Amino acid sequence: MLESSDPPRGRLSSLLGRLTYPFLRGEPPKPRPATGFYTDTTVCIGCKACEVACKQWNQLPSDGFNWSGNSYDNTAELSATSWRHVKFVEQFSDRSSGQCRSLDVASNEQNHNRWLMMSDVCKHCLAAPCHQACPTGAIIHNEFENVYIQADICNGCSCCVAACPFGVITRSSMGGHSHKCTLCYDRQRDGLEPACAKACPTQSIHFGPIDELREQGRKRVEELHRRGVSQAYLYGDTASQTYSELHSFYLLIDRPSVYGLPDSPFNPWLHMMGDYVRSVAGGLAAIAALLVVVFLLKS
Ligand code: SF4
Ligand code: SF4
Ligand code: SF4
Repeated sequence: MLESSDPPRGRLSSLLGRLTYPFLRGEPPKPRPATGFYTDTTVCIGCKACEVACKQWNQLPSDGFNWSGNSYDNTAELSATSWRHVKFVEQFSDRSSGQCRSLDVASNEQNHNRWLMMSDVCKHCLAAPCHQACPTGAIIHNEFENVYIQADICNGCSCCVAACPFGVITRSSMGGHSHKCTLCYDRQRDGLEPACAKACPTQSIHFGPIDELREQGRKRVEELHRRGVSQAYLYGDTASQTYSELHSFYLLIDRPSVYGLPDSPFNPWLHMMGDYVRSVAGGLAAIAALLVVVFLLKS
């Protein structure tokens, strides 16, 4: 006979284990140094090796080979099946009118013909609106401080899609779950660098501890300034009043909007907190009014 203090053994133990397992809280992994990306757009050649490596490693299906008619870029945007997208910002003069066709060209440029390349990806925001908006807890910050979607817990409500100010997350029309870059969580756990960074032939994509990346980025900006590229700056390496720092930040040489990035990203949560307070206050006021009416009717 089992004493109450003895652990259950044999078949009883196995049965108890199976019954209680779903209710046990797992041991979370120990926090590791925060990692991320620093992407130097000035050395990107638009080869799309990073895009292909991401698709290969994550076994993402092809999106077809379609020309948009607007660009040599045929991927067009980040999606549930394209977790990296190399943007081609093509700025060319219109010879017939002498005007530049692109909407945004640095006004001090003498030669307006240029291609700006930028390998876009999830920004792995420190305070991520997608994480804050997710009602099921499917989106987490993992032990590397990367924003990770647990697809099996995602119910496909798309709250995260609406919340992301960078248009990164997309809901898959096949599985119905939301998807985006995982920052190669599986590779990081095995001590490997992300597939996209590994494949980049020009080292435009730097991966590593976020503090080291910031240092690297700032040194590169100083170097570019010394070499006369005075417009070089880092986007997202520090927090602003309306948005947290990004763990995937960029070195740019034109305005963020030229690259399709918000000039001043805004966390929608900052608006929503006021909405929640107003909703609760409105509900309480309605209940109080109802009680007063009931009291008056009875007396
Ligand atoms: S960029 Fe968008 S999807 Fe990525 S962590 Fe930030 S809010 Fe979430
Ligand atoms: S880190 Fe991994 S999942 Fe994210 S874009 Fe690079 S290859 Fe794709
Ligand atoms: S692999 Fe490197 S150089 Fe090629 S498109 Fe991607 S970021 Fe640019």
